[in-house]
Amino acid sequence: MATQPLHYYTRSHRYRDEVCPRSRFWWSCWEGRGIEREGEAFELSFGTLVHEAMAGLLDPEGTQGLDDLVANGVEGLEILLAGKDDLTRTEFKTLFEALVRGYARAVVPRVKDQFDVVCIEREFTHDFPGGVRVGVKPDLILRRKFDGTLWYTEYKTTKNVSKEWLESWSTSVQLMAGAKLVGEALGEPVEGCLIQGLYKGYVYKGELRTPLVYLWRKPGLPGEDDLLEAERPQKWAGWHREGLWERVGVKAWVEQMPEELLQAQFPQTPPIFLNHELIEAWLRQSAKREQDIQHVQILLDGAKMTEEERQGVLDTYFPQYFSQCHSAWGRKCDFYDACWFAHIGDDPLGSGLYRLREFHHEGERCAKEE
Ligand code: SF4
Repeated sequence: MATQPLHYYTRSHRYRDEVCPRSRFWWSCWEGRGIEREGEAFELSFGTLVHEAMAGLLDPEGTQGLDDLVANGVEGLEILLAGKDDLTRTEFKTLFEALVRGYARAVVPRVKDQFDVVCIEREFTHDFPGGVRVGVKPDLILRRKFDGTLWYTEYKTTKNVSKEWLESWSTSVQLMAGAKLVGEALGEPVEGCLIQGLYKGYVYKGELRTPLVYLWRKPGLPGEDDLLEAERPQKWAGWHREGLWERVGVKAWVEQMPEELLQAQFPQTPPIFLNHELIEAWLRQSAKREQDIQHVQILLDGAKMTEEERQGVLDTYFPQYFSQCHSAWGRKCDFYDACWFAHIGDDPLGSGLYRLREFHHEGERCAKEE
């Protein structure tokens, strides 16, 4: 009897599915593999490089210092940025260095003071009946020094560091479920979760706006120093914006940034405690849904279907939530072009807008190769 292929999912799979099931189809089921938007691939890879450098700063067995971690990361970034214009390349290299140096100054001392590192970017898995496996990969598992409890920590590179953004994590049952599964794997319950935000700014008029990339300068009178501000002064006549790379340098700027402003670039949620009842509900529901997707995937991959039959399967199991196509704050769904323009949906790779999705979890790579 043929064995059923292992079906692997992560929180990202569930998130996509909950926002719009068709988005989940494009991202992980299309042609048995899934596609991602070219731009998204850059943002993810940028985030991965930042996380790797940050991991190096906290790794008890790490051998590289801050300057080496920055230099290695910038080297990797150069490859990612190939083909982009000069300003974009300079801005992202500046942002990368400022995030890593800022994290080293604003966050690392606090973490080392309060916690011991248990593990960094280790992948944990949990199996459900029927060959369905969920994978969880926290950025950090920490042990709090004063009471010995375990804390599940994730980094989130974000354009939004509002109070509302921080509060939204308090109801992330997906996050809590990940913490519970890690606790089960370690044989010791996890007390709660922490989200470490990393503010990456936003693009306005073609420039990346964040005090980690640009400062404001007002030339001083003869014999006086120039005035420097991280943010545009209220009365800004005589001031101009200047990239950190132009004169001051990232290292010097991060070292002299006011503490409060620097901390604002690295906001952290209060402790998020686990709601065990809701976690059980989420695990039950997600396992059931993933078992359904597992069966539909086998059907889509193997059965000879007419186009009409295939559409019927997609409409039933991966309906399109059109309300999610274009958010009120201006961001389009990554699969907008694939859904809205039939010729792109018919050949997403050929359109040049999409590429086969990279697997960021070892477990998913193995499951797909089995
Ligand atoms: S474009 Fe709209 S319907 Fe299509 S995947 Fe995105 S949100 Fe869903």
